[in-house]
Amino acid sequence: MAYDQFGRNIHYLRISLTDHCNFRCVYCMPEIMTFRPNAEIMQDDEVLTLVHLFTILGFDKFRLTGGEPTVRANVVDLVREIAATPGVRSLTMTTNGALLPRLAGPLAEAGLHRVNISLDTLHPGRFHALSRRAAFDQVWQGIQAAEDAGLLPIKLNMVVVRGFNDEDVVEIARLTLDHPWQVRFIEMMPFGGATDLQLSNLITAEEIRQRIIAGTGGIEPVNGGELDGEARLYRLPGSLGDLGFISTITEPFCHSCTRARLTADGKLRLCLLRDGEVDLLTPLRQGASLGELRQLILDGIWHKPWGNRLADGQIATDRVMNQIGG
Ligand code: SAM
Ligand code: SF4
Repeated sequence: MAYDQFGRNIHYLRISLTDHCNFRCVYCMPEIMTFRPNAEIMQDDEVLTLVHLFTILGFDKFRLTGGEPTVRANVVDLVREIAATPGVRSLTMTTNGALLPRLAGPLAEAGLHRVNISLDTLHPGRFHALSRRAAFDQVWQGIQAAEDAGLLPIKLNMVVVRGFNDEDVVEIARLTLDHPWQVRFIEMMPFGGATDLQLSNLITAEEIRQRIIAGTGGIEPVNGGELDGEARLYRLPGSLGDLGFISTITEPFCHSCTRARLTADGKLRLCLLRDGEVDLLTPLRQGASLGELRQLILDGIWHKPWGNRLADGQIATDRVMNQIGG
């Protein structure tokens, strides 16, 4: 079991399979991007070695992310091998959904349990403005394909950005009336220099909640308003699905954090919003033993930070979302 100095048991690993992406969301990356060459990215056998190592340390929950994980060439085979690794109890993916019309079935068959799909608006024009791609129809079909493939429950992630899609929160919330989906509203996180968006584009989870209450006539708490993972859950009366509010900035959930991240270039990152990483890929390539890698991971986890310091105006600057994986 891996514990940090605050007594948190860390057993959830988010693995970025690639920093490449077929979208260019305004809150995530600039339009012109230089991605890492393939040689710098973890190869399949390296991902599998590290997954095995993390399961030995008690990690049982794995999420594949990116960049866009579905653009990795052999993602279905890799999912099959990760799913078959003893100790992997939960295997999920966060995706923009654009390739799911083709991949949802094969991914489910390979052993993926479920997906979170990003959906920031239901308006194709605004979708294009946010993702810099005219791909709304593809993503909508991807959501249907995921549902048909049994990648359930479907969770949809909406990053709310003032001036881009804040008008859409009520409409997106209403999707849960007819669909058994969990729609999650995410506070936009600022990343130093990577995007033009700053804290002024942030809409707090509380403001989003108030807008939904005003636009729908009311919502009711699920689980007495307690945190469910990172989200506080509510529902519209009579709905089939839930609403989740993720307030990374205004109300960080550090006390219940059980996660670590593995970047596409094989660095263990202990906090999404704090700089500081432990390189695992270089020692792995230099022939480090499993015992040595295990010690690197345990030492890194012991020093996992507490608090994202955004409230003090401190912004992590060494990485952007497509490299860390969200
Ligand atoms: N490409 C996939 C996708 O978009 O779902 C997976 C990677 S993406 C980096 C993971 C999650 O991070 C997505 O839900 C995305 O909306 C979210 N995200 C990206 N940039 C963000 C930001 N600046 N603030 C908050 N969430 C962000
Ligand atoms: Fe790509 Fe996801 Fe970043 Fe959008 S949020 S640019 S889909 S990695």
